[in-house]
Amino acid sequence: MEYRRCGRSGILLPAVSLGLWHNFGGVDTLENARAILQLAFDAGITHFDLANNYGPPPGSAEENFGRILRQDFHGYRDQLIISTKAGYYMWQGPYGEWGSKKYLVSSLDQSLQRMGLDYVDIFYHHRPDPDTPLEETMTALDLIVRQGKALYVGISNYPAPEAEKAIAILRRLGTPCLIHQPKYSMFERWVEGGLLDLLEREGVGCIPFSPLAQGLLTDKYLKGIPDDSRAHKSSGFLQEGQVTPERVDKAKRLNELAIQRDQTLAQMALAWILKDKRITSVLIGVSKPEQLTDSLQCFRNTWFSADELRQIEEILK
Ligand code: NDP
Repeated sequence: MEYRRCGRSGILLPAVSLGLWHNFGGVDTLENARAILQLAFDAGITHFDLANNYGPPPGSAEENFGRILRQDFHGYRDQLIISTKAGYYMWQGPYGEWGSKKYLVSSLDQSLQRMGLDYVDIFYHHRPDPDTPLEETMTALDLIVRQGKALYVGISNYPAPEAEKAIAILRRLGTPCLIHQPKYSMFERWVEGGLLDLLEREGVGCIPFSPLAQGLLTDKYLKGIPDDSRAHKSSGFLQEGQVTPERVDKAKRLNELAIQRDQTLAQMALAWILKDKRITSVLIGVSKPEQLTDSLQCFRNTWFSADELRQIEEILK
């Protein structure tokens, strides 16, 4: 595993990290989840990413993760970076989502209980809140660190202008923003329009999520929608309607290029993100251990010729 420094901080993250959004919930098979986590850690993946609402049902991914930690990772806590988040809908009433201090503090307490942890390594505000003052949300993150419930804090899904303000407030409070978690893949490139430059300038790490566009940037949808795919499952966030002929056509053309590079499309899509040194880690999901084994081969070739990059731009146009 390659480890990269997270912005201007003391933390190194594995260039590939594992997220537990899908495939670790109450509807999934615990033994499969165990096998994936064990394989990941043995391959040097020291960072696991969660959120309060991961499941389904919401909260069950944290519960299952806690169970597996106790069962299989006893004695390894100090070798792990565990993150969780709050921001999306979690419980009924006016305090169960968005960015109030009330919600963030209560949610993290619940997450710690579900995972059986004293603290998380990174706590994120999951999405910007248009109504709560940013000062309140960032002060809540600072408080959580001072209480010892998280070692570092991050923000997720913040556009560049909001991120810049949040980073400034956190720095003033004495709890620097460690990391930003945005959506970024060959199919979703908004971060290139200013966010990556901002993070580099501010010394904040970047961990893109859904780097395979939930599976669209793999060879799995090239011949239709398989029964065991996220797009087919009722609990999957990817809808069948998002597997459009246009995206499949692009994936087919990218797949041909990947084959010429002696890679799978998944490996090439991850390598394409990792070629940018402003990226700390790519945050992947997997439904089977074999997918992880496949994706981790991305390190065999992270170099792209100018001609390959031009071809990719042409396909993505
Ligand atoms: P990916 O884009 O990596 O998609 C993962 C899916 O792609 C897998 O479930 C699998 O689909 C398919 N796949 C993965 N590897 C392969 C392979 N080698 N060959 C074929 N298919 C493959 O990421 P996710 O969308 O899962 O997101 C990753 C993590 O990012 C989440 O777990 C979460 O931690 C974080 N995240 C954060 C968000 C935020 O708002 N901050 C939002 C969303 C995610 P299949 O299941 O069909 O087999």
